[in-house]
Amino acid sequence: MRVESEKNNLFLIEDYIAAELSWKAERLFKHQIKNWKLASDNYDALKSVRVKKFEFDNFIVEAHFNPGRIISSSAKVDTKSISERPCFLCIENLPPEQKAVKALGDYIILVNPFPIFPEHFTLPSINHVPQLIESEFKNLLLLTKALGKDYTLFYNGPKCGASAPDHLHFQAGSSGFMKIDTEYDSIIKLLHSDAITGEIIYEENDLKIYLVTGYLRNFISLESNNIESLAGNFSIIYKLLNNGNKTDEPMMNIISNYDNRWRIIIFPRSRHRPSYFFEEGEKKIIISPAAVDLGGVLIFPREEDFEKVNKDLIIDIFRQVTISNEKMLYIADELKESVFRRHKRSSTV
Ligand SMILES: [Zn+2]
Repeated sequence: MRVESEKNNLFLIEDYIAAELSWKAERLFKHQIKNWKLASDNYDALKSVRVKKFEFDNFIVEAHFNPGRIISSSAKVDTKSISERPCFLCIENLPPEQKAVKALGDYIILVNPFPIFPEHFTLPSINHVPQLIESEFKNLLLLTKALGKDYTLFYNGPKCGASAPDHLHFQAGSSGFMKIDTEYDSIIKLLHSDAITGEIIYEENDLKIYLVTGYLRNFISLESNNIESLAGNFSIIYKLLNNGNKTDEPMMNIISNYDNRWRIIIFPRSRHRPSYFFEEGEKKIIISPAAVDLGGVLIFPREEDFEKVNKDLIIDIFRQVTISNEKMLYIADELKESVFRRHKRSSTV
């Protein structure tokens, strides 16, 4: 590796620029573990994270006691608090040890020093612009493809677990870590045999759209290797979830994979945090559900909360922060009609 120059924490490495993004990520990760004590200590601490597994009928949900996540889970994300702190995703504010590598377009890649995954990255824009998905969905797909099948990418909406709602970013973690990474195919198989509730919205070779309500946290998924088709159908889903609201984006988390085709899982949200978060004393449980939690790994930064976890609590947390079956079924009907109309239009052009 030839380090040519380094400016404002941005690695300008000729070899890096032409290389595959997954290779850049690997090299950056190794570099940071070797040269940044905070990161290496926190990745070491991951090895002692306590895990509980809860078996439901067709899937597993894990609870992790991860004290390193307290800052993110309890982050104040109101406009005033955000405006009063230096943005930790702007290049000029990165600690001297934290290095960035150019990823794709305006995006850079950083090692997340407060990890959940064995390898955990943040992919911020170089511009300090708000966290919004509508115009960036294709970039999420391109970054997912560029990072390859060893990583899962995800997006947390500004009111759905993102601790920097003021700075556009995605995250990436080791594939297979979230339960949904490996459970997804069997869940869709169960949907086909009616063993799990939901709807097959559309199913052709070049595009598949499913809506699943039998997984505790309702989701809509898209599979295709056609970026335009995915973007067009995402736009339909976005508008349906938005329900005429012109100011805010619909609340959602997105999990994105690429292995010969994209697989996009959208979790529509109803609330940022469950009621437990706002309780006092004994009743208080600090959990701030984001894509990873909905992916099947619930993060508890306090041990006393982790001790309280049981199946009922998991069911209730998911129920409180995601949208209801009734609303999902309404969306299913609308979605079927819109997707069919879009497909008919594009096949007659
Ligand atoms: Zn920023």
